[in-house]
Amino acid sequence: MGVPPTRAADRALARPRRRLLAAAAALAALLAVGAGVLVDLATPAPRPATAPADQFSADRAYEHVKVVAARPHVAGSPANDQVREHLVGVLRGLGLETTVQDTVAPEAGQLSGAAGGATVARVRNVVARLPGTASTGRVFLVAHYDSVQSGPGGNDDAAGTASILEVARALTAGPRPRNDIVFVLTDAEEACLCGASAFAGSHPLAADGGVVLNLEARGSTGPVIMFETSRDNAKLVDVFGRAAPHPVGTSFAVEIYRALPNDTDFTAFLDHNFVGLNSAYIDGGAIYHTPLDVPAVLDRGSLQMHGDNALGLAREFGRTDLTTLHADHDATYFPVPGGLVRYPGWLTLPLALLALVAVGLLGWLLRRRGRATTGRLAAGVGLALVPVVVAPLGAWLLWAAITKIRPGYVELLDPYRPVWYRLAVVALAAAVLFTWYALTRRWVGPAALAFGGLAWLALFGVLLAVLVPGGAYLATLPALAGALAGLAALATRLDGPGPVVAVTLAGAVAVVILLPTVVLLFPALGMAMGGVAALFAVLLGLAALPVVDLLHPQAGGQRGLLALRARRLAPLPAAAAGLAAVVLAGVGLAVDRFDAAHPVPTHLMYALDAGTGEARWLSREDEPQPWTAGYLDGTASAADDFPALGDARLRSGPARAADLPAPKLQVLSDTTVGERRTLRVRVTPQRPVRLLSLHVDSTTVVESSTVDGVALDVGRYTRDHPWGFGMVFHAPPPEGVEITLVMAPGHRPLLRVMDASDGLAGVPGFRPRPPDVGVVGSHSSEMLAVARTYPL
Ligand SMILES: [Zn+2]
Repeated sequence: MGVPPTRAADRALARPRRRLLAAAAALAALLAVGAGVLVDLATPAPRPATAPADQFSADRAYEHVKVVAARPHVAGSPANDQVREHLVGVLRGLGLETTVQDTVAPEAGQLSGAAGGATVARVRNVVARLPGTASTGRVFLVAHYDSVQSGPGGNDDAAGTASILEVARALTAGPRPRNDIVFVLTDAEEACLCGASAFAGSHPLAADGGVVLNLEARGSTGPVIMFETSRDNAKLVDVFGRAAPHPVGTSFAVEIYRALPNDTDFTAFLDHNFVGLNSAYIDGGAIYHTPLDVPAVLDRGSLQMHGDNALGLAREFGRTDLTTLHADHDATYFPVPGGLVRYPGWLTLPLALLALVAVGLLGWLLRRRGRATTGRLAAGVGLALVPVVVAPLGAWLLWAAITKIRPGYVELLDPYRPVWYRLAVVALAAAVLFTWYALTRRWVGPAALAFGGLAWLALFGVLLAVLVPGGAYLATLPALAGALAGLAALATRLDGPGPVVAVTLAGAVAVVILLPTVVLLFPALGMAMGGVAALFAVLLGLAALPVVDLLHPQAGGQRGLLALRARRLAPLPAAAAGLAAVVLAGVGLAVDRFDAAHPVPTHLMYALDAGTGEARWLSREDEPQPWTAGYLDGTASAADDFPALGDARLRSGPARAADLPAPKLQVLSDTTVGERRTLRVRVTPQRPVRLLSLHVDSTTVVESSTVDGVALDVGRYTRDHPWGFGMVFHAPPPEGVEITLVMAPGHRPLLRVMDASDGLAGVPGFRPRPPDVGVVGSHSSEMLAVARTYPL
């Protein structure tokens, strides 16, 4: 531990051979611990279809994936009907009471994509129940069976749907559980979480709440991470830790997830006071929501992990007295090889303060023993902030340079083969740390620098404990281990192996705590946010600084030739890491090229005003790819003519008008009573569409509105657009939808109606993509919108 050795130890470790041995042993120990961490995060081997009936088999589940994800099956489509028939058939075949909840429901949560108006959908949820023997409550296994319009959803969420079918099979093959288990395969998750909203808000089986286990995927591979819980999760997390065979989850993920613009069905259940756990695998995000999300790219190891955990948790929650799950606090939890560490969240702040005190004590003792002066300790603290700032900045610059060379990365969540770039960022973080260390250690000394690193970790721990308690363990525990190792090293014979053993143990703690975070942050945030992973890599390096010190030649103490050699060797680790960063980034660029199997993503929509006969191409690409640029000549706001598309500025270009009908608007009744005019209209699409919308001009004040009996939120629109109140209806029935508008009389409102289908193949002027050009994963890719204004 940055403990500058006494003269005896100076002499001992100054002997290059002995120092080399210590460095090799410490490094080997940390590498072994790191390998253990990575093995623990690896997915299990998929079980074959011949596995015993009470086990989850990825190969059996995969047969369902193939049926569910045979083609895109967006809510309301004929393909979606076929998937639903398969699900109902399988669940009834297991002897389960199975029904379809067919209703119109509003969106859940605050969807980022719902800028276009109040959102509802017609949904058809598949609900099956396995009655318990003496139920204390209900356990809900939830996944969505719909896909996006732009891809078949082999992973998202055929994997979750198929897992639930296989879990249902395994559960019905064994003794009946104590509690009711309800299998909920929701519709219209992609559109608006409307299926989950309908179930949680109005299904009789949901009336008393219960425990929800939601299964998702936002990629094609990697470990299944339990990344979200309901509040006051201590007892739920305890069940997760003991009943999930592969418990990968961290209280930090909950905090990260809240900062991301994602939502799943779980949100709808939380809105209705359910408790539960949300799990997904997220690596391989390049295919997310794209045509490439086919069954063949699914990693069956991830599927096995999903199913193993879901089955283990269903059995455990199935036998637990569900009335005892209430806790009054959140837990801090994180994976370690062989299990899940968990402790009560109220320990977070005391532990953080304890770490701060321990680091302070170490500083005091270092000064008292004459290992460092106050000035050097202060310099160590000041200097330790440098790599913390520079490494994330460097990672950001590296990615900026790579996306300059390969602009197609901008539209991708993560590159197709991100591993080389991830390693490059880690190498870059190491290069920054080693360079900083080589430049500063002869000046302030190893002890003061190690103290500085621990001081920042302890301070971050306190800061996180206050602001982001679930993440505080990441800084607190390495700081505490480092301080205790330093104190132990000062108490042992400095010329013996004690100090090296102590600092290696502390380094091992840092590896166990921080390595999973570095590894999981890359897929969670994508390369554009690789700087966050670089930050945690640097914190890991700071926590293990005394081991880093062993990699450098002995500082000071030598004279003449030895000192010269030491000075010459000092930049070696930094140079090696810097070279590795450059080489790895180069390998990434060479390996991860766009081709037919890994196409560059592009975004294109077509929008026609059937009233004026004007049409245009629209794209959400900020810097259009060459293929897309062929359609575009400027920017436009869709809000003027196509308010359902939101108010973002889009790239646009002229298009030829297609011969397509706008939705028909028919007035059913128009009555004015006193100060209220009530208008009932029916909007009917004239072709198969995925959604339809209606907007009212912004000078008209809409006081209330319903669609097919569902009340809409009229308070959420802004009036600085031509169009004010509006609604978007996903999966509208062919006979159309009935909308009631209540407004002030005396004013003739304009109504703008739009509908949208998917696929541009028949549009005049559309040229099919070359093989190496693909479709970006988005809810509006390939959308074909037709709008028209009706004055009333
Ligand atoms: Zn999705």
